[in-house]
Amino acid sequence: MSMLQAVTGAHGTGGRSHVVVLGGGYAGQLAAQALAVRTDARVTLVNDGDRFVQRVRLHETAAGGSEPAAPRFTDLLAGTGVTFLDDRVEDLDPATRRLGLRDGGSLDYDLLVYALGSHADPTVLPGPVHDVSTAGGAAALRDRLAAGPTTVAVVGGGLTGLELATELAEAGHPTTLVTAEGLGADLSPRGGRHVRAVCDRLGVTVLDGRRALAADDAGLSLDDGSRVPADVVVGTVGFAVPDLARRAGLAVDPSGRVLVDTALRSTSHPDVLAVGDAAAATRPDGQPLRMACATGLPQAQQAARTVASVLAGTEPAPLRFRYALRCVSLGRRDGLVQFVHADDSPRDLVVTGRVAAAVKEAIVVNALRVQRHPRIPTSA
Ligand SMILES: Cc1cc2nc3c(=O)[nH]c(=O)nc-3n(C[C@H](O)[C@H](O)[C@H](O)COP(=O)(O)OP(=O)(O)OC[C@H]3O[C@@H](n4cnc5c(N)ncnc54)[C@H](O)[C@@H]3O)c2cc1C
Repeated sequence: MSMLQAVTGAHGTGGRSHVVVLGGGYAGQLAAQALAVRTDARVTLVNDGDRFVQRVRLHETAAGGSEPAAPRFTDLLAGTGVTFLDDRVEDLDPATRRLGLRDGGSLDYDLLVYALGSHADPTVLPGPVHDVSTAGGAAALRDRLAAGPTTVAVVGGGLTGLELATELAEAGHPTTLVTAEGLGADLSPRGGRHVRAVCDRLGVTVLDGRRALAADDAGLSLDDGSRVPADVVVGTVGFAVPDLARRAGLAVDPSGRVLVDTALRSTSHPDVLAVGDAAAATRPDGQPLRMACATGLPQAQQAARTVASVLAGTEPAPLRFRYALRCVSLGRRDGLVQFVHADDSPRDLVVTGRVAAAVKEAIVVNALRVQRHPRIPTSA
């Protein structure tokens, strides 16, 4: 009997509800673990690929750093009772609570946790553009850069663009960072000064206040008519989400993220919860949560609490979340910890240098550790 048959064949047995978690990224994998701890439901995690990807390390992979650990889901979930299914979900029918799988099979659920994450949006920057949003994308960039120092243009001055540009420059690739905003515009003045100083030290050419229009084999065209010569262009702007929820008729925002209430239930289909990048979640005061591990991990733990309440017939408590800090690696030996107010606006308080790099590394290690230990607190 295949694993799929084992799952579908057991559906409904023993009167236990079947909770399916869709997507094994930081949010989905943790949700599955937390569900196993907090509920007596039968839990199945479905992911397209049998290994957990440390997505927050993909810029390190691209720059040729050591390959990060990618544990098998069956190892992460050993002893939890969660069933793992390596398959791709192609369709979702919320009326029959049925998922259509790539191999032609199907999987029924009583409650669904939708955690399909995000990927680079190929429509944002036309032309030959690399990305580091998936393991495959990061590996392709690493292979392209493997021959030796290569001129790179990184588009996007957000945290991912900044981390990637500094990592590539430190690895010896002449790097230009193009950003429509001012570099560090969303940091405190001290934070902004630090990231600019590190870019200067590593030789990153910063072109801020300029928008990239298109890439080609010789580099980038900018909106002021100028050119950035580059052998390789990497885009870090514009993350898109899978269109499964939209196709299924769930209420979604204009980008396709699932609209959820404060307990992370779909506003149109309350037997579907959504977490992580694919969820349009907000704080209790209505402020949208940004796409980040920092928000996806607490959402995963909340999803398990919500499911536990739903199964117990009680009203779930809302997600309680406040921002505390933003952490940026700037190469392997420098970094920035930007402390923020509860609403994510920057405070005039930063930690920089090797200490900040060590704090960032500890947070990344913890984001993997919590995937085995779902009771570790993940929010301030
Ligand atoms: C280079 C980089 C650095 C980053 N650094 C940070 C950082 O320092 N701090 C921070 O907070 N955030 C950071 N982020 C953002 C963070 O990685 C994401 O917010 C986080 O991964 C979102 O988690 P998720 O579980 O929602 O989605 P994902 O991690 O994207 O996981 C989604 C999963 O769903 C699976 N999937 C997709 N479609 C299907 C399907 N149809 N069927 C089955 N499975 C499917 C995918 O294979 C994947 O495993 C970074 C992102 C990148 C790219």
